Amino acid sequence: MTPERILSDLIRLNTVNPPGNEIEVVRYLKELFDAARIPYEIVESAKDRANVMARLGSGSKKLLFLSHSDVVPAGEGWDFDPFCGEISDGVVYGRGALDCKGLMAAQVYALLQLAREGAPLNGVLILAATADEEKGGHFGVKYLLENCPDKIQADFAINEGGEEPVFLNGRMIYFIQVGEKGTAWSKLQAAGKSCHGSVPALGDNAVIKMARALNALAGYEPEIRLIPEVEYLLQELLRVKGLDGVVSKDNVDILLNGFEDKSFAETLRAMTRMTVSPNVIEGGSKTNVVPDQCSASVDIRILPGQDENYVISELRRYVGEDIPVEVDNYVAPTFSTSQSDYYRLVEKTTREMAGDGVLCLPHISPGATDSRFLRSAGIPSYGIGHMDREFDQDARITIHGKNERIDVSSLYFKADFLMVLARKYLS
Ligand SMILES: [Zn+2]
Repeated sequence: MTPERILSDLIRLNTVNPPGNEIEVVRYLKELFDAARIPYEIVESAKDRANVMARLGSGSKKLLFLSHSDVVPAGEGWDFDPFCGEISDGVVYGRGALDCKGLMAAQVYALLQLAREGAPLNGVLILAATADEEKGGHFGVKYLLENCPDKIQADFAINEGGEEPVFLNGRMIYFIQVGEKGTAWSKLQAAGKSCHGSVPALGDNAVIKMARALNALAGYEPEIRLIPEVEYLLQELLRVKGLDGVVSKDNVDILLNGFEDKSFAETLRAMTRMTVSPNVIEGGSKTNVVPDQCSASVDIRILPGQDENYVISELRRYVGEDIPVEVDNYVAPTFSTSQSDYYRLVEKTTREMAGDGVLCLPHISPGATDSRFLRSAGIPSYGIGHMDREFDQDARITIHGKNERIDVSSLYFKADFLMVLARKYLS
């Protein structure tokens, strides 16, 4: 078995979530583990939803390789069948190639190789292929931690979530994700008084109230907060760009405005502040009726160190006292320090594998992965997006988009990295 073969097989199993149907992946991996005589456990969380955990070695140390088996819907406009799993010219094509079946294929391949080597491991390598990451983890990692936490309990975990490498001034930079922003989706509710639209002065228009509130929110000036890992990341990027100076709250935007790659710059910017985006507005029923209700849903993402109360007080400053504000979907930010032996091991291994001249830096993600559950359960979790030096950078934007693909050399790079990491930690 090769990683590209495994990935190709995984892509051809349709695990679009909803409905997920991850049992297909579990059945496939079961055969590989059976053939390699690697012990595993299957945990079914719902009909056709299942997770599989394989274990190699014995001892008290535990390292977890985590990846999710579901994928997001393919959508329209692909240049090839999203579930073809075709391997050609050193590329594997299809939904999940990058998110997250590529990582899964590398993890499975690494596990099979380590089993074949038969070198005794001083500890346990756990591989968990879990369901439902794309729809909240209810049938996957969340379920496992609530029902059988011992099955994925580990000293630390390697998961998805790291940014793919970037090239800056000729330097290749690898990333390790150490944290994820939290979610604090909020609802604003404006109330007014209804009346006939022909004499609007007799009413109190809730849509206009909301428009004023959102207009104020559009001018939101977030407090800039540099957590030490992000400060270090920005300082190192500054150095690579050949610029002097010390990154601070006061000059961070000037620095970010100097990046040519807008997507990279804005992702970095989101690591330095709470973001606020009013994305849904509902109000009024008829053109000739002054509306007495208007609501808005606001996507708010918060940094480690910020919480619900912080969000409410920030919103209050802009929308005033008149409009009730409620956080109706809250997921706390999570964080694993870079000041740990685990982080240092991941960093050192990355540097060794990637070769001279590369940098390896921590970051936090604007969005979330299953790592949030692990971190909340006390398992430090580090996200990687490691790719081969020659990787197809244009493929970056195909995650959750069309024409998703990964180059075979990056699959081997990931697998080699994972093998070396496991050997180092469990030796
Ligand atoms: Zn993913």
